[in-house]
Amino acid sequence: MIRRGLLLLLVQAACSAAPRAEFGPCPIQERRCRVDTLLALEAERGQLWDPWTEPPPVVVIGVAELERRLRLVSAIAWGGWVDPLSSLGLLGPDRTVPEADLRWQVDNTAAVYWSHDKEVSIVDRGLPLDDVLATATLAHEYTHAAQDREFGMSFEVGRTSTDRELVRVTLIEGEAELYEQLAALRMQGTDPAAFDWSRHYGERLASVREQTLLFDSPHTLIRQALPYPVGGLLMGRAWQRGRSTAVNQLMLSPPSSFVDVMLALDGRPPAPPPHRLCPRPALPTDRFQLLDTDRLGAGLFYGYLARAFGLEGDAWQAALTWRNDQIWSYRDPTSGTPITFWRIRTAGLRETPLGGTLAARTEPPLLSGDDVLFWSGVDAAAAETLKQATTCAW
Ligand SMILES: [Zn+2]
Repeated sequence: MIRRGLLLLLVQAACSAAPRAEFGPCPIQERRCRVDTLLALEAERGQLWDPWTEPPPVVVIGVAELERRLRLVSAIAWGGWVDPLSSLGLLGPDRTVPEADLRWQVDNTAAVYWSHDKEVSIVDRGLPLDDVLATATLAHEYTHAAQDREFGMSFEVGRTSTDRELVRVTLIEGEAELYEQLAALRMQGTDPAAFDWSRHYGERLASVREQTLLFDSPHTLIRQALPYPVGGLLMGRAWQRGRSTAVNQLMLSPPSSFVDVMLALDGRPPAPPPHRLCPRPALPTDRFQLLDTDRLGAGLFYGYLARAFGLEGDAWQAALTWRNDQIWSYRDPTSGTPITFWRIRTAGLRETPLGGTLAARTEPPLLSGDDVLFWSGVDAAAAETLKQATTCAW
């Protein structure tokens, strides 16, 4: 019995060649291709994959099925934010945040890793399923599977603040972009150490930034599209500096706010970490019913300034001076009027071209000291009340 079993094992070993730890274009739905891609990815990431774990299955789905599944996982509460974001010009007319996000995802998603189902969906857009692009896409999604396993990063969690969420998505997508690009370069026989990562992702960043003045929901564009080139640039440069070790260090000690990511792209040191959000302001509840509060971060400050003044490059430079912000969504309980108050602490904004414009204004948005103030739904006197009540530690 033993000898027979041994013989059987030997025959099996001879029939199936050992999996290779190297990327190669292959039919991504076949198990052999999935195992090879996973092993190559884990070698690239400097990790070991538990040999008993099956690589996540790959299922090809149509756009309608993508939309159906996205609807199942997109139930994040944004109820109090339609009016504030619309008044800032960050949300398209007649849309909610989940609708705007869903439309972007349905139009732009090539593949998804579903953390709940531990499964990869490839969206059928008529492209081959066995070439360099397909295999590199699989490497991208398997990076998410590895993140899910290592950090428990589920992708459907609620936000702590919009600013922190943007940092998290930038790191998650940045790492996946990096290994997707590394896989493609390996398959094309290009030396990744000699590859111009800054130019590659710099060009992609420029094309997303061009959309900031055009896309009808900048709130969606900044949160859904910007993390890919920004994260790719950040991670590509980290990899050039110290390979997967430097990438892992970034994942394990994330920047404290999105402005640090923007500053890092400029080769500048991080800003001091922002203070915690202010406690609930002392305001008369018969005039101000608090719905929600949030920190939008430098990414959305950039998007807002770009749309408000139509000067995209100046807006990016101005957003680098972001040091903290908080936005409050209120409602007047008597009239039902939505009230928005947004306060952004800056350092050196006044010296930038847009800062000069803001300092000369008497209507919102305007610069008061180092703070940019925006309000809607109230007159100047009530805005002054809001300003006094929201002056906290920072
Ligand atoms: Zn991704």
